[in-house]
Amino acid sequence: MLKDFLIAPGPTAVPSEVLIEMSRPIYHHRTPRFSQLFMETIELLKYLYQTKQDVFILASSGTGAMETAVVNTLSPGDSVLVVRSGKFGERWGEICEAYNVSPAYIDVEWGEAVDPKRIEDHLKEHPDVKAVFTQYTETSTGVTHDIKKISDIVSKTNALMIVDAITGLGVTKCPVDEWKLDVVICGSQKSLMLPPGLGFLSFSEKAWKANESSTLPRFYFNLKAEKKAQSNKTTAWTPAVSLIIGLHKALQMIKDEGIEEVIKRHKIIADAIRAGVGALGLELFAKSPANSVTSIKVPEGIDGLQIPKLMRDKYGIAIAGGQAQAKGKIFRIGHLGYIDKSDVAVVFQSLEFTLRELNYTFEWGSSSKAVQEVLYPEYKKLDIRKA
Ligand SMILES: *Cc1c(COP(=O)(O)O)cnc(C)c1O
Repeated sequence: MLKDFLIAPGPTAVPSEVLIEMSRPIYHHRTPRFSQLFMETIELLKYLYQTKQDVFILASSGTGAMETAVVNTLSPGDSVLVVRSGKFGERWGEICEAYNVSPAYIDVEWGEAVDPKRIEDHLKEHPDVKAVFTQYTETSTGVTHDIKKISDIVSKTNALMIVDAITGLGVTKCPVDEWKLDVVICGSQKSLMLPPGLGFLSFSEKAWKANESSTLPRFYFNLKAEKKAQSNKTTAWTPAVSLIIGLHKALQMIKDEGIEEVIKRHKIIADAIRAGVGALGLELFAKSPANSVTSIKVPEGIDGLQIPKLMRDKYGIAIAGGQAQAKGKIFRIGHLGYIDKSDVAVVFQSLEFTLRELNYTFEWGSSSKAVQEVLYPEYKKLDIRKA
């Protein structure tokens, strides 16, 4: 038997509490029963987003929510600014180009965060920019961008601040209203502890204003239709009922834990992972590392593709390799969503076995010691769980 662990930056593990809810018999979505569940879920989603503005649930992966943000705010030929610091930044650009929006790019070296000053300078020179697109955390490189600082700049202009927070929301602080973020994207299979299949976004007053003059074609992803349906306590099209039932449960779990506690948990686990990595003499790839995913440089002389392969096939641990230009050069450990401190031990035991098998030299057992130094004080201050 090989027990499987999902330690990837998406999809992530789904708690059994959520799986049980999703396995219940399906019911019709045009009913008071669904309406009640749906509206409660919308309210819980607003709690996660820390917003009083509109939030939407779409039957699509995260990329569908990204496309929704573009087609509901812009018109052909509009100037926009795209931060391109990895695979997902490239995706913003590809969506814009597919719809004949005109993106200018701020290219950031993979592994680095964008300097907010570059955005400020561009907006000063090009006051016609309609939107700034960025990631909160660029999952392909493991970098966190300073979204608060960027939004402080963008919110003072006419441009919309559109953030792909798919591995940021529910991991790192992201108070949407307080930080004046206009559109914030999320997806089900990352921090939300659900299978893939749902996309989410928040949509500010400023975004609705842009929506009025936006002429890009849209049909399925039409937020005006969704808003109208939501005012009638339902969705425009057939919703992914079982996933929404699961979402209700997962968001309730997040609310019961408390968003601040959820953020703290991710921070402690990320600290422990980084400590373990450092103890093995490995180097982080990201200059400002995210709390959702740790990207690690493949040490000299080791076949980088073998690390995730051995981890998966021999130890049952699904981590991720590098994408595109980072392929074979980095590997990535995901630590978001349904993850607890105890999972860290599982990662490093198999990572040490894997690295030894690949003839990498390090001090045997050093990662557990480093992890324990970080986690023990956290456990020590915990109350014994009440029965
Ligand atoms: C996972 C992810 C996406 C969405 O990808 P889908 O495969 O469409 O769900 C987008 N942006 C980031 C930063 C991601 O991590």
